[in-house]
Amino acid sequence: MAAGYAAPIVELHEGSKNNYKLNQKELEKTLGRADIAGKKVSPLFIWITNLCFQIALISIAGAFRKGKSFLLNFFVTYLEYLHKGGKGEWFDETTVLDKFNWRGGADRDTNGIFIWSVPYMLEDQNGEEVVVFLMDTQGTFDHQSTVQDCATIFALSTLLSSVQIYNLSTQIQEDDLNNLRLFTEYAQLNKHEKHQRAPFQKLLFLVRDWPNSDQYEYGYEGGKEYLEKLLKTTPKQKKELKVLRENVKSSFESLEAFLMPYPGLRIARNNSEKFLGKVEEAFSEQLGILVPSIFKGDSLEVKKIDGKEITCREMVELFKELMKIFNS
Ligand code: GDP
Ligand code: MG
Repeated sequence: MAAGYAAPIVELHEGSKNNYKLNQKELEKTLGRADIAGKKVSPLFIWITNLCFQIALISIAGAFRKGKSFLLNFFVTYLEYLHKGGKGEWFDETTVLDKFNWRGGADRDTNGIFIWSVPYMLEDQNGEEVVVFLMDTQGTFDHQSTVQDCATIFALSTLLSSVQIYNLSTQIQEDDLNNLRLFTEYAQLNKHEKHQRAPFQKLLFLVRDWPNSDQYEYGYEGGKEYLEKLLKTTPKQKKELKVLRENVKSSFESLEAFLMPYPGLRIARNNSEKFLGKVEEAFSEQLGILVPSIFKGDSLEVKKIDGKEITCREMVELFKELMKIFNS
């Protein structure tokens, strides 16, 4: 059994207006959690730490049934391993994937936003302690949801996270860029003021089942080259393509891409076993690179609002404020 659970923070009820429900109880139990990072401390310290700790919120969004929740299981596994001061391999064939609910079959889980209930303390590049939370989203581009619902979930994810992982299958299509633009514009509609700086922090395009490793190699390097080519603007390009690319580039402080191999039939075939089992060697190799890279000090983004770092307590307030705006 995992020590935590995926707490439903925002629930989406279809078919009614103002259909986003903020689960305040779960929000307080996770982001507003008193014994943050599992430390046994005095109530006074709890109060101070809750005010002071900076927060990194890593969120994953993208189409339904493309392995988002599956991947998050490895994030939790790795963070647990770090927390226990682990050495050596942090996952193998016996790794149990029972944290975020991932599934085969045609059904889907409740739509909305989930946060892993356990916060993890890590150090950023300056050696300062940061509380890390993981966020899963369900509903984006789902055929059963309306475009409005997709945009809202994605916008919330973008506005709340310090690192947004955009999970895509096999390639980054023009449609994916268009959706990104739609979602980020929607998110910005709900901002009160316009600022000079890029409105959002870090976006990582995560391309699953990457088929062209002979052209662009797996991992960050191939991803960087692929993304550069994709987002390049040229004088000859159609205006709309150019505007789209400029919009995407100016919306985020940094853009990265990671090209992930196909995991193998066992995983792709929607088996219902809750352990990893045998996967393609290239997949486990890249998984071993991707996951630790997300939590490395120099890539750990602390959540900022208008350039100012915010604390867990302020994050709780941000959730509440955004939900009010999106439901009005
Ligand atoms: P989510 O809706 O995006 O959260 O998707 P899930 O994590 O629930 O996974 C949906 C299905 O995709 C599961 O049956 C997984 O076995 C499978 N899956 C997970 N990762 C991958 C991957 O990288 N490639 C392929 N082809 N399938 C995957
Ligand atoms: Mg999921």
